[in-house]
Amino acid sequence: MRLVIKYGGTSISSAKDIQNVAKHISSLSKKNEIVLVCSATGGTTDVLIEISDSIKKENKSKAERLALKITNHHKQLAMQAIKKSDIRKKLTAKLDEDFAELSALIDGMVLLGEVTARSMDYLISFGERFSVKLVSAALHDAGKNSIPLTGKEVGIVTDSNFGESKPLMDTTRLRVLKTADELFSKGTIPVVGGFAGADQHGHVTTFGRGGSDYSATTIGSCLKADEIWLMSDVDGLMTADPKIVKNAKLLKEVSYSEAIEMALFGAKQIHPRTFEPLVSKKIPMRIRNSFSVKNEGTLVSASPSASVKNTVKCVSNVKNNGLIDIRGGSMVGSPGTAAKIFATLARAGVNVMMISQNPSESSITIVVKNTDLDKAVRALEMELLGKIIKKLEVTTDVAIIALIGSGMRGTVGVASKVFGSIQKDKINVSMITQGSSELNLAFVVKNSDASAAVRALHNEFKLDKIN
Ligand code: ASP
Ligand code: MG
Repeated sequence: MRLVIKYGGTSISSAKDIQNVAKHISSLSKKNEIVLVCSATGGTTDVLIEISDSIKKENKSKAERLALKITNHHKQLAMQAIKKSDIRKKLTAKLDEDFAELSALIDGMVLLGEVTARSMDYLISFGERFSVKLVSAALHDAGKNSIPLTGKEVGIVTDSNFGESKPLMDTTRLRVLKTADELFSKGTIPVVGGFAGADQHGHVTTFGRGGSDYSATTIGSCLKADEIWLMSDVDGLMTADPKIVKNAKLLKEVSYSEAIEMALFGAKQIHPRTFEPLVSKKIPMRIRNSFSVKNEGTLVSASPSASVKNTVKCVSNVKNNGLIDIRGGSMVGSPGTAAKIFATLARAGVNVMMISQNPSESSITIVVKNTDLDKAVRALEMELLGKIIKKLEVTTDVAIIALIGSGMRGTVGVASKVFGSIQKDKINVSMITQGSSELNLAFVVKNSDASAAVRALHNEFKLDKIN
């Protein structure tokens, strides 16, 4: 099989983890063609972001100290993970080269006194530059030919939308195929840094936080991989958060569209565009646990087997949001009201998570993150209050509860079961949405009611018996 296997940061955090990855991959590589994709080691990207904050605050010594901290951390991992001294020495020298480049970049950014989107991407791409060198050296140490590559080096070409770039697939496909074919023919395992590529001018770009998932599926689509595996520290997608529901179960199979909903609702953090490259090629993906490789994980595919077409597959919850009820008599029957509201929020950089409007058109209710709430209310007040809006009513600390499952489509009685079951716990619902795809039914309750609502629904739909 041709496999693209991606390891998240927590799966390559310690020397032992890195050795285990090398062992696992070298045994898999006997029968399969493999491209490895790695995130930065756990926490590294956060430190790089801290460096950018220090630069903004003109605290050069702190930025330098943090850069040294990251480098030393990786050198220490190298000391512990790599047994052969010649491989270790070469690796350490390469890490020093990266450190020199990182220091020069910090110097430049401090000198300019600004952090642009472009320099930011260049800066935060260093985490993956360090990690792939480590993992590739560990494979080498385990007796395999391997080469570390950045997203740019493997051939991922993107637009110039720094911080949230997208690959230009036609060019990327040609380049990635050429790189991979050459390496496969020599029996060399490429270890590619996730999260980043480069635009047509060669400037490093990133896909946004968690973007290594997207790198893996982009590469998988270019290579027409047989499967893509996302390895992390969880067993796969679950019927609910096991911290809330004790008998939550692992989902064996879900469809792309269900997985997209689950990713958005935070059941497991997956980069939102991860599935895009897979859908047209129908490449199956497995979400697996690197710490328990015997476990098959969750299979995400275009058409899960009929036996798993349950009505509801999972109950997710996202806590700590704010609800804003926007009211006004002049909103009724006046085209463009919604456009004005959402344009105002967009200009303020507020992401809207849920929207509902009742047919009387006298109110539009939205849900945003608690952290965006102030910004959202201020923007609406400044620009629209007293004009199209009469009144804003705000509720903080609410949770979104979402039921996900393509089997809900066209099934009669789902809503009555949902609201019947939470009524028993006297939980008040302050907003409801369901798209016409009927893939996701979501409603809003108080934070303090969220866990009880999740448990009630998990119970009602017998999700503990799902498989
Ligand atoms: N290292 C990047 C991040 O932490 C990308 C990733 O982990 O997928 O967001
Ligand atoms: Mg990550």
